[in-house]
Amino acid sequence: MHSKTIAELGAAMQAGEFSSVELTRHFIERIERLNGDLNALITPTPDQALAEAEAADRVIRSGQAGPLTGIPLVQKDIFCTQGVKTSCGSRMLDSFISPYDATVVERLKQAGTVSLGKANMDEFAMGSSNETSYYGPVRNPWDQNRVPGGSSGGSAAAVAARIAVAGTGTDTGGSIRQPAALCGITGLKPTYGRVSRFGMIAFASSLDQAGPMTRSAEDAAMLLQAMAGFDSRDSTCADQPVPDYSATLNDSLRGLKIGLPREYFDAGLDSAVAASIDGAIGLYKQLGAEVVDISLPNTALAVPTYYVVAPAECSSNLSRFDGVRFGYRCEDPKDLEDLYKRSRGEGFGAEVKRRILIGTYALSAGYYDAYYLKAQKTRHLISDDFKRAFETVDVIMGPTTPTTAFALGEKTDDPVTMYLNDIYTIAANLAGLPGISIPVQPVNGLPVGLQIIGNYFTEGKLLNVAHRLQAETDWHLQTAEGFA
Ligand code: GLN
Repeated sequence: MHSKTIAELGAAMQAGEFSSVELTRHFIERIERLNGDLNALITPTPDQALAEAEAADRVIRSGQAGPLTGIPLVQKDIFCTQGVKTSCGSRMLDSFISPYDATVVERLKQAGTVSLGKANMDEFAMGSSNETSYYGPVRNPWDQNRVPGGSSGGSAAAVAARIAVAGTGTDTGGSIRQPAALCGITGLKPTYGRVSRFGMIAFASSLDQAGPMTRSAEDAAMLLQAMAGFDSRDSTCADQPVPDYSATLNDSLRGLKIGLPREYFDAGLDSAVAASIDGAIGLYKQLGAEVVDISLPNTALAVPTYYVVAPAECSSNLSRFDGVRFGYRCEDPKDLEDLYKRSRGEGFGAEVKRRILIGTYALSAGYYDAYYLKAQKTRHLISDDFKRAFETVDVIMGPTTPTTAFALGEKTDDPVTMYLNDIYTIAANLAGLPGISIPVQPVNGLPVGLQIIGNYFTEGKLLNVAHRLQAETDWHLQTAEGFA
């Protein structure tokens, strides 16, 4: 059961082959057996899952089922879930029970999905390896000595290990696409504003975007369909109609113009990963696509720009966690200052503190122009690179990450090396563009992700381009040993 796609599971449940309760029990049993080693879930919610599955079965019996009715998934622990702990991977929110559901959670519930629990993540979504979580690192199902990527590493590992059919993620600088690549699954970061951020704990508000993490592009289309759309509770949410993402999956790719930015195939790219990406691009040529060399000349500015903008916004967003208004409170504070200092000192981990310090510095009077304002300007240059590129190409392709999954602990002492893991994903966030990562030919038994970036609101095109490759290949169906 756990190796089937959303479409297959939906059809089987509607044909009465098994019920959502049976399917959910199967996944609960897998979580009990496999999650201990992986640590992909912070809070499993089996009782809630079974209650939701029973409700889904009633809907199925009444003939009212939609494509997601009764499908078990996991929610990244950044999404507020009513009555269930919402930790954001931090000690700061270890005892926070949300009084309401995030819009993403609410919409997926309305679509009839079953939540198996809350997925592990880097603390406040800051990280590329899931090692900054207060709840400990997640292990990569393909090699448990390696990281799953981050910050949505719990969701990625859960889907890869088939302990959930799908998961939700958020992507501020690559946190859906990078763990999807390292775990061999499909992950889509939509256009900024395509999916509501209401109830999604804010990291860097001008970059954060939620999206689906699934086995296939076909599954991602179904999940995005339920997640996307206007929400008056998020003022940056786009008031644009949501197209039927499943309807265009099989569109022909004849004449599709693929841009290959030379900066994405630089010396920092592992040669075996490059070969795997080249192989996938060769298949696109066979499908009728045309390949064009392009340049995104300001690519080298993306990481430094991001590491001013994101910390600046996080320092502001995280100021509310002070032990008074929100979050962990220290024991026996001497006075108010001691309360603030120790609550934040004890509640936040090292990476979060580093970001708050950098961001506060960049925003301070006297430095604002030199750092934050400058970063906003270079951000503009990066967006303009893409604007020019999309005048001549339909999509941009390249690797999602420079290497396959690295070893646990390998980069924890060197933040800059860790930050460079997102070198190919960050620019899309700075420009607000959609991007998808799909598995291609593995290297030494480890997954490799092909990244496809599109123009604004072209999620349908990205899913179509991803699906056509998946229809010809089986990389997205491969499962790590021990989890098949
Ligand atoms: N790895 C990047 C960071 O640490 C991106 C994180 C994300 O997309 N949430 O900030």
